[in-house]
Amino acid sequence: MIDYVGSWGPLLLGHSRPEVLQAVQEAALEGTSFGAATEREIRIAELICSLVPGIDMVRMVNSGTEATMSAIRLARAYTRREKIVKFEGCYHGHADPFLIKAGSGALTFGVPDSPGVPRATGADTLNARYNDLESVRRHLEALPGQIAGIIVEPVAGNMGCVPPAPGFLQGLRSLCDQHGIVLIFDEVMTGFRVAVGGAQERYAVRPDVTTLGKIIGAGLPVGAYGGGRDIMELVSPVGPMYQAGTLSGNPLAMAAGIAMLELLRSDPSIYSRIEESAARLENGLRATITRNAYPVTLNRVGSMMTLFFAAGAVVDYESARRCDTARFGTYFREMLDKRIYLPPSQFESLFVSLAHSEEDIERTLRAAEGSLRAAFHG
Ligand code: PMP
Repeated sequence: MIDYVGSWGPLLLGHSRPEVLQAVQEAALEGTSFGAATEREIRIAELICSLVPGIDMVRMVNSGTEATMSAIRLARAYTRREKIVKFEGCYHGHADPFLIKAGSGALTFGVPDSPGVPRATGADTLNARYNDLESVRRHLEALPGQIAGIIVEPVAGNMGCVPPAPGFLQGLRSLCDQHGIVLIFDEVMTGFRVAVGGAQERYAVRPDVTTLGKIIGAGLPVGAYGGGRDIMELVSPVGPMYQAGTLSGNPLAMAAGIAMLELLRSDPSIYSRIEESAARLENGLRATITRNAYPVTLNRVGSMMTLFFAAGAVVDYESARRCDTARFGTYFREMLDKRIYLPPSQFESLFVSLAHSEEDIERTLRAAEGSLRAAFHG
């Protein structure tokens, strides 16, 4: 099979990369968990701080969900305010405050407002429209001095791939500066993917707090959050904001992550090679779409890409939801029959990796031609 899910993002270099496997094996021989910091945790922290522009200090956790949960606690501790602004269709893991009009599986399975989330939690989460600064400004004006943080996927991946409109991320930065709000970039998906320094490097906008996951564990369970020293020094044990985890900084995950990040740091051509494959896939799909005048929309940022089964631009949750998911389903199943594993939902991004060869891309394009025909003509 040709896999474009890649464990939902971590496998930037493909499955079972020898350097990663060897690092994990070596670490396992020395012990799988100590419940204490190890040298490997310090090493990966140094790598992350040197590569991600907005991170001077970083705390390792076990998943993206833990990273975002902790990041909003930090924003609340820092500002002594309680409300959080997020965007419809963005997904920040499954913690209660984020399961309000959430993306990813919540959107796919039709439960963007999950049962089990207390009403009081929902009351502190405000939803704005992605790529719409006016919708953010309205919240800030309605609740002056009450908003602790704005959390955003700087390139949305969880309503399908939706790029930030020009000026959107810069606009969020200035609104946060004006109102003393903590800007959180959730780079769990985009970190080390859309550039080595993530979306904040690609779009040159520096958040106050960054959340990471996926690639920094190279497929092992991991997450992290970091930011400037002034804000991170609030985190226990240096500061009073409590957050801890027995398995955080787990030596196996740290070993895998170090191997991955060292490869990414030492060979910048990795990104240009993946970009080339992703562009080849995009161009081939566009040629088929144009030739047949299919009413679809293709969005791509680097190695993230979604083919939306809707005509017209997809820029936010509302425009993503216009998609014909039944047609998408036919396309997905046809591709699977041809041994191409795409994300099994319209509201997800596919991921191109270094392991995808020119031949893989050509095979994918041939399969897509037949699968699109089946989706539109039966
Ligand atoms: N944030 C973003 C942007 C994500 O894409 C995800 C997972 N897809 C998460 C947070 C949650 O990460 P995890 O599944 O590791 O808890």
